[in-house]
Amino acid sequence: MICLGIESTAHTFGVGIMENEEVLANITDMYIPSGGGIHPREAAEHHSRVCGNVLEEALEEADIERSDIDLVAFSKGPGLPPCLRTGAVFARSLALSLNAPIVGVNHCIAHIEIGKLKTGAVDPVTLYVSGGNTQVIALSAGKYRVFGEVLDTPVGNALDKFGREAGLEHPGGPKVEKLAKEGSKYIELPYTVKGMDMSFSGLMTEAVRKLKDERLVDVCHSLQETMFAMLTEAVERAMAHADKDEVLLTGGVAANKRLQKMLETMCEERDADFYTVPHELAGDNGAMMAWLGILKYRASGEDKLEETNFIQNWRTDDVEVEWNK
Ligand code: AMP
Ligand code: MG
Repeated sequence: MICLGIESTAHTFGVGIMENEEVLANITDMYIPSGGGIHPREAAEHHSRVCGNVLEEALEEADIERSDIDLVAFSKGPGLPPCLRTGAVFARSLALSLNAPIVGVNHCIAHIEIGKLKTGAVDPVTLYVSGGNTQVIALSAGKYRVFGEVLDTPVGNALDKFGREAGLEHPGGPKVEKLAKEGSKYIELPYTVKGMDMSFSGLMTEAVRKLKDERLVDVCHSLQETMFAMLTEAVERAMAHADKDEVLLTGGVAANKRLQKMLETMCEERDADFYTVPHELAGDNGAMMAWLGILKYRASGEDKLEETNFIQNWRTDDVEVEWNK
């Protein structure tokens, strides 16, 4: 079965094509904010501008015709409403013109399923860390439960905001990682873990304040050490709680080598397995929507067209995970 998947929840518009377990194409085009954070309407305008070209490029890369597509999948939520609407409309018109079935899938769960497929993880605690999300998720009683999440600013966003204040280019995350390697002094910063939930806003504000008296490289080092220790603690607690012995790291922040190392060390100490999703499939992309589309379609068939409206705050644990039975 060949499934074409569409991603449009936030800054990335992506089209991925999967033939069963194999990625045939995975093309993305990212909206870069003109200044400050992401403007939902501008992002949606970006998506409608590039969608045609991204589709053509994906078909060419996969070396298939439109008529070869057996199924259309799209990100139904959670995300920014104007962006979600653009993706849903594009998916619907494509499915109608091809006379192909359509399925709407959950963005967070798509990250997990493509990660499992590509790493071989079977039943992990997933740490999903991106610009817009920070969640600790594991399968329990038939649903992906969110064991812990950020209470305010997600990790990637916090790193990007700090970067802006420190005069670094957007996105700040990779620049902070690079600078942190040259830092060595640990500066005490607020460490806030409540159960398995985390807060990064106070930490970020305090790090910005420290820039007045401390070296940027030391602040970057301390910011990473504090943030990633918090994440590692939350993941470890979730593993004990849910009785899991695998960790899957995904989302754009998964690229960070220091975060990978801290989680890996924790896993070694617990005799658990650690997996990082390959970079090209860890950020937002269409291939993951296509793969979850295939899983969902195989388990429960297509969606009715009138059920293809987006769901802005679609919670991970609202989804019945039929394909894992
Ligand atoms: P996503 O929202 O999944 O597309 O991921 C984008 C986010 O990942 C941005 O906030 C980036 O700053 C962050 N990011 C990318 N690479 C790194 C890195 N090496 N270290 C930390 N954060 C990163
Ligand atoms: Mg994402």
